[in-house]
Amino acid sequence: MKLTSEKQMNKFHLGISLGLLLLVGLICFLTGRSFLSLHQEEPIFPSAGLTRQFRLSHYLPNLSHTPGDTRVYLFEGQEKGGNILILGGTHPNEPAGFIATVVLIENLKVKKGRIFLIPQANLSGFTHNDPFEANPQRFFLPARQGIRWFRYGSRLTNPVHQWPDPTTYTNPAGQKLAGTESRNLNRAYPGQPKGSLTEKVAWAIIQLIKSENIHLAIDLHEAAPEYPVINAMVFHERAAELAAMALMDLQMEGFDFRLEASPPNLRGLSHREWGDNTSALAVLLETANASHGRLKGKPSVALIVEGRDNNYVRAAKLGRLFVPYDERGIPLSRRVARHLAAVKTLASYLGELFPHQKVEFSDYPSPQELLQQGFQPFLHSPRQER
Ligand SMILES: [Zn+2]
Repeated sequence: MKLTSEKQMNKFHLGISLGLLLLVGLICFLTGRSFLSLHQEEPIFPSAGLTRQFRLSHYLPNLSHTPGDTRVYLFEGQEKGGNILILGGTHPNEPAGFIATVVLIENLKVKKGRIFLIPQANLSGFTHNDPFEANPQRFFLPARQGIRWFRYGSRLTNPVHQWPDPTTYTNPAGQKLAGTESRNLNRAYPGQPKGSLTEKVAWAIIQLIKSENIHLAIDLHEAAPEYPVINAMVFHERAAELAAMALMDLQMEGFDFRLEASPPNLRGLSHREWGDNTSALAVLLETANASHGRLKGKPSVALIVEGRDNNYVRAAKLGRLFVPYDERGIPLSRRVARHLAAVKTLASYLGELFPHQKVEFSDYPSPQELLQQGFQPFLHSPRQER
């Protein structure tokens, strides 16, 4: 009798164990599938003004077929002029830079000079999203036809693509940093052709700047509202005059930028190493993004797109922030409008200071249009559907 009940108990435990095993297997399958889905690139629909689209490995062949081989878009005018490079997505959890470049790519027409755009500078960083931050994997914006999706990634290269991190990281410029920073593209300049994936990407970007004779290079970022270097225009010393002139115009337009000189001893950052290692004028722009701040409440798609968070309203009232912040928040459209306003003004003063480096472009939304109409009229669907 006792033996039978023991057998039944064993069967019962076996059943529970198999059930749990199946449940764990199912969770692994679903989370694995969700994780791998982040490797799918979001579609970008370039305007008819696009001259050529290619990959960054054009400048470093051994980057080819790696997760760092990101898309490059070239818009070339009929007339010769200056050359500008604009980077979004150096940090894939800072969507304003990424979306500003997408809006340009989908609307731009260049009359004079050339504009190179890299919307996802650290492409690997778009394939994961810091699980402990509980951020959504994607966010959504209204487009001309329907809704478009974009990935919200991580500040760092995916550890699946670059592992392990060293205990301390000495970057190619000789700066010692925490080990995780070895996966931060904006600490990896000037890069190394046979270095880590992140260093190869940095090296290829430097090669692009050199071989395409880039005159002005702009790196678009965002920062938490409690971070002191916010709403900033960080400039390499050779770009000081350009940045100062642009700043005055932007302030008159109602965009409150603050100028920050690139610290000469902070090595590996774009504004420092682009300026020191190439002849380009280098500028980095920051906007305020509540969705990657430390004070934020629950992460959500709405927080990324609308930039509204009650914790930040409270922090602003306590004087803890470095930007004005109220119940209206700081929406993505306003952050992208700031970036586009700065790009336009910097490009315009490049031509004023150096007439042979003039770049003329049109057909992209003005900051006012973006503020009033949002993204919908400026994000497209496949060309044949327009
Ligand atoms: Zn950044």
